[in-house]
Amino acid sequence: METSTRLRVIGHYIDGSLAGLDAPRCGDVYDPARGEVQARVAFADAAAIDSAVRAAKAAYPAWSRLPLGKRAEIFFAFRGLVKDHVSQFAALVSSEHGKVVSDAEGELARAIEVIDFACALPLTLKGQFSENVSTSIDTYSIRQPLGVCVGITPFNFPMMVPVWMFAIAIAAGNTFVLKPSERDPSAALLLAELFSKAGLPNGVFNVVHGDKSAVDALLAHPDVAAVSFVGSTPIARYVYQTAAARGKRVQALGGAKNHMVVMPDADIGAAADALVSAAYGSAGQRCMAISASVAVGEAAEPLVEAIRARVATLRVGPGNDPASDMGPVVTAAARDRIRDYIEQGVRAGAALAIDGRSISVPGCESGFFVGPTLFDRVTQEMSIYTDEIFGPVLVNLRASSLDQALEILRRNPYGNGTAIFTRSGAAARRFQNEVEAGMVGINVPIPVPVGYYSFGGWKQSLFGDLHIYGEDGFRFYTRGKVVTSRWHDSNAGMNLGFPTHK
Ligand code: NAD
Repeated sequence: METSTRLRVIGHYIDGSLAGLDAPRCGDVYDPARGEVQARVAFADAAAIDSAVRAAKAAYPAWSRLPLGKRAEIFFAFRGLVKDHVSQFAALVSSEHGKVVSDAEGELARAIEVIDFACALPLTLKGQFSENVSTSIDTYSIRQPLGVCVGITPFNFPMMVPVWMFAIAIAAGNTFVLKPSERDPSAALLLAELFSKAGLPNGVFNVVHGDKSAVDALLAHPDVAAVSFVGSTPIARYVYQTAAARGKRVQALGGAKNHMVVMPDADIGAAADALVSAAYGSAGQRCMAISASVAVGEAAEPLVEAIRARVATLRVGPGNDPASDMGPVVTAAARDRIRDYIEQGVRAGAALAIDGRSISVPGCESGFFVGPTLFDRVTQEMSIYTDEIFGPVLVNLRASSLDQALEILRRNPYGNGTAIFTRSGAAARRFQNEVEAGMVGINVPIPVPVGYYSFGGWKQSLFGDLHIYGEDGFRFYTRGKVVTSRWHDSNAGMNLGFPTHK
């Protein structure tokens, strides 16, 4: 851990103020393109976590009672401020995460889509009313907020994933404590500052940084009502089990191995363009990256060749260089893990069609770079197939038919996103009907749903039932109440029988 005192410290945001600048424990925040520590981030201990939860708890009664129109007005102002700061957000995220600036701007655009949806909160929070369910009796349902909600988010989308959670939770009347990834913590702080500027009362949205001990303190806190998690599958399972055992509502989105099936009748050029973009964009560090292609029948040879030709044109470099198509991966440990997987693939006998191990970026020799890598003739037992590598490594499997391709996908433990490229409506329809995944693309490689639908996977990619943002998000962050009411002048008299609708 870096001990220099000259480095800037990134603090928490609690009750409308920066805090924790003198925290005894801190982590290093890298510039991944140059391999250097650029700042330190405060790690919250149990006392800091408690002060954030207490601030959120104190802010809850007034926020949850604020008229819906006033809540919406703050969201509209927040949306405007976020849009005014696109360049600042993109530069911050590129410098801490490593992704190219245009990709960071794309991430923010998808975050803003979710804020757009949150702005419609008066409409989304409407209940239902049934008049005359019995004589002079009406029944209506309302949805009410939960209290203090917590979000724990991964490094790979430091703006979009937090917004998926806090925008919907706060729109629904909850208050919120966000624990973003300690790898790229700055965007969360800027989001919090802009939300305050938009008029959000102090304590409604708080940000605390840290690692496992901060997460554990949040999961143990008795005043936390609900937990949303996005990250790797082992931690998602842990958070789900721990929070649920303590009586909290929880949704935990995990890792992925997203497959794209390429049928022999597909436009191979379009499929190769899509695969290269979806496998190597953000250096493969997207939960919706395509990391496995399944080439059916005669598609395999031309597909591998088309990918090879396209990858030869890609430029790998620092995220803030407009000429770069792909930046570094997030840490030296991630780079070493990915290289190790490539070794394992070679040892297991997969055909290494493109080798990204020896890449060198002039001027960034210490950066955490791995070049685009492609394996062909991969089998289902190889670790490069069974494991989520989370780097720019695409593995190609070959299948003889759509049946066999579907069987490969069925056996895979993950079920986040998937895609099929074909010109056959019948094949596409069968695929969308039978495939076990939460998000399906038909000639679309990264089918992240728009903000007014919901995002979530199946199998080991999601623990919990409700997906995130969209209508599922509002359901997750509210609880239902059904009122049965009678207003009339005469007394119905005594009746010890069970009430019926007569
Ligand atoms: P991660 O699981 O290492 O970390 C996620 C969060 O958990 C971070 O805030 C981290 O501080 C915390 N954490 C880490 N170790 C912990 C522990 N032992 N106990 C408690 N908390 C802990 O994930 P990451 O490396 O930041 O992100 C990449 C992963 O996230 C990939 O697996 C990717 O597929 C997944 N992801 C999934 C989705 C989705 O929507 N399903 C979206 C984005 C990323």
